[in-house]
Amino acid sequence: MARPRCLWCMEPPLEEVAVLKWRGEDRERLTIPLCRKHLIRLKEAGTKGREIKGFNYKVGWW
Ligand SMILES: [Zn+2]
Repeated sequence: MARPRCLWCMEPPLEEVAVLKWRGEDRERLTIPLCRKHLIRLKEAGTKGREIKGFNYKVGWW
């Protein structure tokens, strides 16, 4: 059985994080598991967000 892991790496998740995922006009509100490192990086990116695999992500649903 697969262990839970961070969406973006093999680390175990620190917490489920509410994020906005967007590309152009497409917007999606998701809750994703992130490890400490990726959660910190996403928080540091702030409202500008962070691009991963062609999509932008930021913390929060607004
Ligand atoms: Zn990670």
